[in-house]
Amino acid sequence: MDGMAIVWFKRDLRLRDHEPLAHAAASGLPVLFLYLDEPSQCAHPDYDQRHRSFVMQSLAAMAHELKEAGHILQVIRAEAVPFFTRIREKIPRLQLYSHEETGHHLSYRRDREVKALCRACGIPWIESQSNAVVRGLTHRESWNEQWADRMLGPQAHVPLSSVIPALLPISLAHEWPAADPACESTSAAMQPGGEPSGHRYLDTFLQERVEGYGRAISRPQESRRSCSRLSPYLAWGNLSLRQVCQATLLARSRRRHVRQIDLFTARLHWHCHFVQKFESECDMEFNNLNSGYDDTRNEVHERLVKAWEDGLTGVPLVDACMRCLRETGYLNFRMRSMLVSFLAHHLWQPWQAGVHHLARQFLDYDPGIHYPQFQMQAGTTGVNTIRLYNPYKQAEEHDPGGQFIRKWVPELQSLPLPFVYRPDRMTPLDQRFHNFTLGADYPAPVVDVDKAAAHAREHLWKTKRSDAVRSENSRIIRRHVKPSRVPRRDSQ
Ligand SMILES: Cc1cc2nc3c(=O)[nH]c(=O)nc-3n(C[C@H](O)[C@H](O)[C@H](O)COP(=O)(O)OP(=O)(O)OC[C@H]3O[C@@H](n4cnc5c(N)ncnc54)[C@H](O)[C@@H]3O)c2cc1C
Repeated sequence: MDGMAIVWFKRDLRLRDHEPLAHAAASGLPVLFLYLDEPSQCAHPDYDQRHRSFVMQSLAAMAHELKEAGHILQVIRAEAVPFFTRIREKIPRLQLYSHEETGHHLSYRRDREVKALCRACGIPWIESQSNAVVRGLTHRESWNEQWADRMLGPQAHVPLSSVIPALLPISLAHEWPAADPACESTSAAMQPGGEPSGHRYLDTFLQERVEGYGRAISRPQESRRSCSRLSPYLAWGNLSLRQVCQATLLARSRRRHVRQIDLFTARLHWHCHFVQKFESECDMEFNNLNSGYDDTRNEVHERLVKAWEDGLTGVPLVDACMRCLRETGYLNFRMRSMLVSFLAHHLWQPWQAGVHHLARQFLDYDPGIHYPQFQMQAGTTGVNTIRLYNPYKQAEEHDPGGQFIRKWVPELQSLPLPFVYRPDRMTPLDQRFHNFTLGADYPAPVVDVDKAAAHAREHLWKTKRSDAVRSENSRIIRRHVKPSRVPRRDSQ
């Protein structure tokens, strides 16, 4: 074979608004559509079967569409460097096209190794910008303007019929099983992967569901319908942020639900704002963004972390959220924040003790959002307001009838309202009356929430005022905040 352009799909599992595909098609070379199912990436502690299912469903949808246009999607289980080394031996004139990935340490290391290989072998690797995230950025001057330009820019579509198909030599090709067991969703309650599903969620949101957006955003039950639920489609690239922004602008022009749409648009902006933080400071995966917090919360209590992970803390809303997440892969922003606040503040655990667990639970896990958000909610950035969410108060405010708790913590199903929030407040007589035993039917709280919050508040505010935190703050603001702005609160 004379030459080949490879489109290497990573977290961009779509065939529309795909710049690498457009560039590969424009090269005039036959184009190979490639996904590498990399064992090392799948073994990372942030990875779960639910992610795999979502990816496989996305690939199945792409394979189907490509087949109709006379192409084959190659899904190959291999590590990137050995694979590209082998293919380079068989095909002399190779070009590689992909999106830039703001991934974790392991994927970044893989990219560096692929880059070194490409340099050594003379393979041009053309990487396109992902959404509005800028590689190599050292400050935020004009970042907002760049975001807007990028979102309003033309989408990169290419008719598949105009692309010349390429095939791998037989020794490198693998027959991808059409009925991969991983395509079966791990739970019927999990959102299905794939570009068509992403567009369905986008359409139903902008046509009807957006109406309740502002009202429902903080509520664990109502948010499931009235938030967009687009996050897994953005995280795995079934949709580009530009597609979502442009569809949103079009919906806004119809002058219905304008306020709700504006609220939603602000969140779309946050998407890249957070990924940009991680892109610019990827150490955040391991270390406190503000090193002034390095001496707080260093001891891990396995028993407490396990109770949190298992949804058995004895604090009903915390447990309901964790169990719901385990089954469905989704939780709204406020409840995610509360879970982290409970781990880091009430249980007084280092955020690192829970960051992988939640990554595995979130179907929409995206390292670029996950790590900066986790640190912000754990209060280790220094520049954001420290938020301690009282899980009892959150339950009263955002689960007013207690339905969410009752649904996910069936042990509390038959208790009347105040006790659904606070089973620990039942007297022995109440317990006998309701045929319920605290400690046997449902755990007593693993911590005294009020005392734990007071302890956390005292320590965190003291540390926030320390010289170590303050001097780091200037560095953080210089790098991650637009110079003309005072630090934002970045939270809902
Ligand atoms: C500890 C923690 C970890 C998180 N980890 C992730 C993650 O791994 N992946 C992820 O996509 N989101 C993450 N988020 C952000 C947020 O909770 C989800 O994006 C949101 O709940 C997804 O639901 P939705 O699509 O219905 O959101 P909508 O409210 O409909 O918002 C639309 C889109 O805007 C973006 N967005 C919304 N809120 C935020 C936010 N606070 N920060 C950044 N982007 C936002 C998302 O892409 C979202 O899909 C995390 C939040 C916290 C507190």
